[in-house]
Amino acid sequence: MIRVNENYLKIQASYLFTEIAHRVKAHQEAHPEAKIIRLGIGDVTEPLAPAVIAAMHKAVDDEGTRENFHGYGPEQGYAFLREAVAKNDFQDRGINVAADEIFISDGAKCDCGNIQELFGADVKIAVGDPVYPVYVDTNVMAGRTGINADGRYGNLVYLDCTAENGYVPSPAVLKEPVDVVYLCYPNNPTGAVATKAQLQEWVDWARANKALILFDAAYEAFIRTPGIPHSIYECDGARECAIEFRSYSKTAGFTGVRCGYTVVPKGLVGYTAAGEAVELRPFWTRRQTTKFNGCSYVTQRGAEAIYTPEGKAQTKATIDFYLENAKIMKDALLKLGYNVTGGVDSPYLWVNVKGDSWEFFDKLLKEANVVTTPGAGFGKDGQGYIRISAFNSRANVEDAVARIAKVLG
Ligand SMILES: *Cc1c(COP(=O)(O)O)cnc(C)c1O
Repeated sequence: MIRVNENYLKIQASYLFTEIAHRVKAHQEAHPEAKIIRLGIGDVTEPLAPAVIAAMHKAVDDEGTRENFHGYGPEQGYAFLREAVAKNDFQDRGINVAADEIFISDGAKCDCGNIQELFGADVKIAVGDPVYPVYVDTNVMAGRTGINADGRYGNLVYLDCTAENGYVPSPAVLKEPVDVVYLCYPNNPTGAVATKAQLQEWVDWARANKALILFDAAYEAFIRTPGIPHSIYECDGARECAIEFRSYSKTAGFTGVRCGYTVVPKGLVGYTAAGEAVELRPFWTRRQTTKFNGCSYVTQRGAEAIYTPEGKAQTKATIDFYLENAKIMKDALLKLGYNVTGGVDSPYLWVNVKGDSWEFFDKLLKEANVVTTPGAGFGKDGQGYIRISAFNSRANVEDAVARIAKVLG
């Protein structure tokens, strides 16, 4: 008899996006003429940079010649990309990360999910609330949690991210020992950023407690405010206690192409039950070489082109475009008297709707034909908020803002 992993049964059905799709479909069917604008999605809308396209075309041609054909690549990623990453994303910013600490992958979601294979089954995990669901669900699947009651899993530590703490929790709130904490800044869904002092507090906590920080920097490229850290490794001692995830999805429109990377510093350790320190980098190398055969050569050549002068200018222009979308929407909502976080250094706006998330979602859907994401879907503390995404065309953003103003004004 084939027994199933019953931990999967604990996972709350992906209520959020299924429910949104259901409500949008019902509304569209009732009003076939309605032109619906989707500000709910976390997917990019603008095409890839010309520099990336040219590099990928060339890489395709390489694959068509005997001399330049590439079969299986190195599991850790090609040196040409790892070296470009180490130099541009870290060393040029004065951050100590080397090319052999970079692991190229097909995206940050997989890496965020796969990394916990490296840890003991009984480690205690802490996540923010609201939260990117991947951190939670992957640990549920692994059996690290109890059942879900009232929107929260047993045996998981939730860190409230609220207006009171600026959506950045402090380790001072921990009431019990925690071994691993997931931090994501700039944050999805709140759009909040963490200061260096706030991240340093977590690094100091992790070092003092032999704990590990899993830092998701998928939105790093949206940071424009000087002084906001781009990497956890800007903090003193972070190399001893943090793994960082990056993605080209939001940075360069790679949501469909698929590429990202993870940084596992040399010297970063975990512990055996007997208390013996074990380096995590060889563990991750082992995991990737066993279960992952690398990201395609064509994709990695495309990612490399992001670091050329043209690639940098083009991808920056696209992000500036999304940030301008965010600003247009934020200004409009502030003018309407709403409290809004994010939209600066982030493509997401987190709007206090002064009421129920789903009721507000329904109002905007039915009266403005605008789709948002109810904050309650990201966790208990998301109740009372909606997330609005800046990934859209300017025409749609302006149209949506005008419609929202009409409904809420
Ligand atoms: C979009 C996103 C990612 C990136 O995922 P990919 O698999 O690289 O597309 C990672 N973390 C968060 C929080 C995200 O929103």
